[in-house]
Amino acid sequence: MAKKLEKYQKMRDFGVTPEPRGLQRPRKARLPIFVVQKHAASHLHYDFRLEIDGVLKSWAVPKGPSYDPSIKRLAMMTEDHPNEYASFEGVIPEGNYGAGNVIIWDEGTWEYIGPGDDPGESVRKGEIKFALEGTKLKGEWALIHLRGRSRKQNEWLLIKHRDGYATDKLDITDYSKSVVSGKSLEQMGGGEVWISNRKSGKVQTMADRVRAAGSGKARGSGKPAPGKKTARKSASSKKRETKAAAPRKAKKK
Ligand code: MN
Repeated sequence: MAKKLEKYQKMRDFGVTPEPRGLQRPRKARLPIFVVQKHAASHLHYDFRLEIDGVLKSWAVPKGPSYDPSIKRLAMMTEDHPNEYASFEGVIPEGNYGAGNVIIWDEGTWEYIGPGDDPGESVRKGEIKFALEGTKLKGEWALIHLRGRSRKQNEWLLIKHRDGYATDKLDITDYSKSVVSGKSLEQMGGGEVWISNRKSGKVQTMADRVRAAGSGKARGSGKPAPGKKTARKSASSKKRETKAAAPRKAKKK
């Protein structure tokens, strides 16, 4: 356990960053968890993490997951994270590894489908199929290792399987807020998203864009506009997804 997280721990200064150290024991006798953290680091990405063998196996997915089985999303394998990382959202301070805002974009449990009978072995062999039971992500998915593409050998694809949830009618990343706090990435940072390795140190927030566009009336960062969807409306979004998925239309050209 401790050894698996050595890289994770070496990369961080826990005197400075609020991220967990990874000292807790993994819990037992329950379905394994998954989490997808939306992370505004030097490049925005979604950290997709599956609990396997006591740690969170992790992939950074620049474009986030897609419910469309014809869309394969690049997923770069990153270092194992401790299980308790799954409950982390907040701001990783500037100057630290992965500096930037993090929200829990989705979370839930997952079940191993295959191939074989050992999830850890499937990951080592470069192909794992699984079913997600989250708020935004449901149904069957696969992660497939792309061999020989990059020197680091860390390129995988995240792919939706064809099942009752698959659809090309919905971009799930449109549901942008935390399923835990209801906050957007910008709101997590108090209206500012800080980035470590850009000269300015600051990215444009939506409020900045509105101001720059000269509408003259910038919204407060805390309140969603009336009628705007929040992560808490996930039950209805689930219904929409299901409805959109059936009957299945001819696939996107
Ligand atoms: Mn990340």
